[in-house]
Parts: sequence; structure tokens; C-alpha cells
Amino acid sequence: MKEEEIKGILELLASPKKIAIIPHRSPDGDAMGSTLGLYHFLKKLNHEATVIAPNEFPEFLAWLPGSENVLIFEKDKENVAKVLQSADLIFTLDFNALHRTGEMENVLNKLKTPFIMIDHHQKPDDYATFMYSNTKFGSTCEMIYNFISYLGKKELLDETIASCLYTGIVTDSGSFRFPTTTSETHRVAAALLDLGARNGDIHNSLFDNNSYHRLQLLGRALQNLKVFPDYKTSYIRLTQQELDEFKYVKGDTEGIVNYGLTIKGIIFAAIFIENKEEGIVKISFRSQGDFDVNQFARQYFNGGGHINAAGGKSTKSLDETIKDFESILSQQNFNV
Ligand code: 5GP
Ligand code: MN
Repeated sequence: MKEEEIKGILELLASPKKIAIIPHRSPDGDAMGSTLGLYHFLKKLNHEATVIAPNEFPEFLAWLPGSENVLIFEKDKENVAKVLQSADLIFTLDFNALHRTGEMENVLNKLKTPFIMIDHHQKPDDYATFMYSNTKFGSTCEMIYNFISYLGKKELLDETIASCLYTGIVTDSGSFRFPTTTSETHRVAAALLDLGARNGDIHNSLFDNNSYHRLQLLGRALQNLKVFPDYKTSYIRLTQQELDEFKYVKGDTEGIVNYGLTIKGIIFAAIFIENKEEGIVKISFRSQGDFDVNQFARQYFNGGGHINAAGGKSTKSLDETIKDFESILSQQNFNV
């Protein structure tokens, strides 16, 4: 961040303010960890901070400190819109285009409030007064640690903030294995452990909390896996009927897409999940190496993200969406 930006933000934070902190719709570990980490930090600076999520967050993140105070826009639109309208300052974390908040975008677009964006996705939109945007970071949580450090307020970091930030670093780095994981990421993680974050407990809360039904759903997903060795590609499909059969709850399909990449020789994996309620097929893409799924998701499936992890959606049927995907595959160059 530039010095004048840091000065500008410090001026905004110099007196107590009403601050709304917003993650993207269907928030993941990084979105919830970064918003809650910043929330605890801003409260220590005597601000009236509120995390406002566009929709529900998954159960496996409900242990995060402060998650019980998160407002959910889509559950109570009118009242939550009022909270947004009364904010003096708005942080948007872990996304960079207001449409990523779903219907909340309509409320946000009308506000004259200053926005601060902290994010690591490609191609940020131009809505924020201050922007700390850098795709070289593996997680927004790592950036929040830096942000607090840039403000010269590292002494306010504590075990609670550290636990939130450690969570997003772990989830967005695939437990420290994705290429954006640097020695600096490990230094930040080490600092968070020194502050009291309990890595073993956090890992257990995140990954060893499966329900029986979730594992059964995973079994079905793996049976549905289709492999195209010529295209170094695999994909998984899940119908709404299958989700219902295994008593799907939010978060149950998180991470399943990665199994496709674990097959030898596969560099591109996708999962197509039918969502009858929203009338869409939600898609996740993952890749290894130089195959750019952000570009792929943007070009063909109304989405975006990062080079090796992106998402998108389709309003066509599940079968048609997959048919489109297979025909697009044959036009790609997989010699990357
Ligand atoms: P996931 O597949 O886990 O939902 O998302 C992978 C990455 O792509 C995340 O960084 C997420 O924020 C981003 N992403 C997921 N869906 C979309 C989408 O519809 N649009 C854009 N721009 N990014 C997405
Ligand atoms: Mn992220």
C-alpha cells in the first residue's frame, strides 16, 4: 500500500465510526476469517463494527469467534439494508466486484459511503476509495495481517484475531500447498501461532467435522467423476436430487472439486452442482500449473477467481451446461 493511502485510512479510522465489513456471497474460510479478523481489530480501535454477509456461511465456520454476531442480508433484507445505509465506512474483503454480493449489490450501489477493498482476486472493479488489491497473495487473511501492520497497530493483534486470520490462510492455501504460499505466508502463520492461534484445533474444526451424510455425498461425487485423459481434465456432477438424497447442507460440497486434480496427469478439474432453488448450476474450477481457470471461468461461465481456482455459474440445465463444457474442452490447448 502507498503511504498516502495508509495516511488516508488512518484519518478515516482516527475517530469512532460505524463500520460495515462485507465478505462475498457464499463466504468461504478466507472471506469469514478476514472479515471477522478485521471486525475484532476494529472493535479494539473503538469502532462500532458489524460483519454483514450476503447469505449464510457454512456450519464448519460457525466456531469462528464473532460469527454469532454476523448479520445475514438475505435473511432480513430491510433491516440489514438499514445497517448498511447508516455505516460511515465499508470494508469489502475477499472480492472485488460488487455483484459478488448478490442482491446486496443493489443496496451497495446506491451508497455514497467510502469503501475500502482488501482482496487478492484478478481484475478489481473501480468502486473503492482505497484499494489494497494484490493477486500475489494466497489469501485475504494474509493481507489483513499486513494491513494491520501497515497501520502500525500490530500491538493490537491477539489470539482471537490470529485464529480468524490463520483460518483463511489455511483454507485458501489448501493447507499451505498452493503455489501462492510463500515463505512470507509461513512467517505470517508463525506470527499468528505465536499470538496464540491453535493450528491443530483450527485444522480439526475445519476438516474433521464431517457429517456421515457429507461423506456419503462425497462417495457419490467420486463415483460420478468423469475423466478425459486427452484433455488432462476431469469433472464431477451432482444433481439436486443427489444433494437431497444425502441431506445436503451448505458447505457439504466444499473442496470436493479438488479430488479431480489428484488423479495422475490431470491438470484441470471441475464440479457442476445443480441448484434448483436458485435456478443455476454452480461451477468450481481448479487447475495445476499454467492453465488459467480464472480466464476460462470469465470467458465461458460468467465467473472468475484466480489462475488455479475459480468459479462460475450457468442458467442452463445441468446436462446442457456439461454438454457446453465438453464441447469447449475440445477447443482448449492442454499442452500447458
Ligand atoms: P469456489 O470454486 O471455491 O467457489 O471459488 C474459487 C475461487 O473463485 C474463489 O476465490 C472465489 O471467490 C472465486 N469465485 C467463485 N465463484 C465465482 C464467481 O461466480 N465469480 C467470480 N468472479 N469469482 C468466483
Ligand atoms: Mn480468498
